[in-house]
Amino acid sequence: MAFHKEAHQRLNYLYQAAHCVLSQNPVNVELARFYCFTQKTIAKRLVLRQDPSVKRTLCKKCCSLLIPGVTATTRQRRKNGRTRFTVMRCLSCGQSKTFLNNPDYCLWADRPEAQMEQQKQPGLQDPGTSAKNKPKDTKPDKSQSSKASAAQRAAST
Ligand SMILES: [Zn+2]
Repeated sequence: MAFHKEAHQRLNYLYQAAHCVLSQNPVNVELARFYCFTQKTIAKRLVLRQDPSVKRTLCKKCCSLLIPGVTATTRQRRKNGRTRFTVMRCLSCGQSKTFLNNPDYCLWADRPEAQMEQQKQPGLQDPGTSAKNKPKDTKPDKSQSSKASAAQRAAST
């Protein structure tokens, strides 16, 4: 489990590096793609499940990092007047991907209006509060070590 956690951190680092070089200069498309390609290769080799938010920003064909307005174009599509889609097209290879603009989707939390929406839900509770009530560890035996250091101090003076 620790191994997987470390691998995830590395993947995350590569993904962030890709974002970083692209935001510094859009010319770094190739470098960003290299990071994303490496990230994808590692994830594949270790059979790690990629985060959906990561997955949807990577071109499945050429591994480019898809950033709207930089390496990709986005279009909004509407179906039946209610269902909305986002079509993202990779500017490097032309591959396009479509995803549903589902309010329940994890990326919903990234939108500014999501903050207001979450405050309206009183059912959500902080899971961290109950964990704080666990009993403290028994007193560590410090008397011996402090005695020893005191003796050492006494001996050196
Ligand atoms: Zn592509």
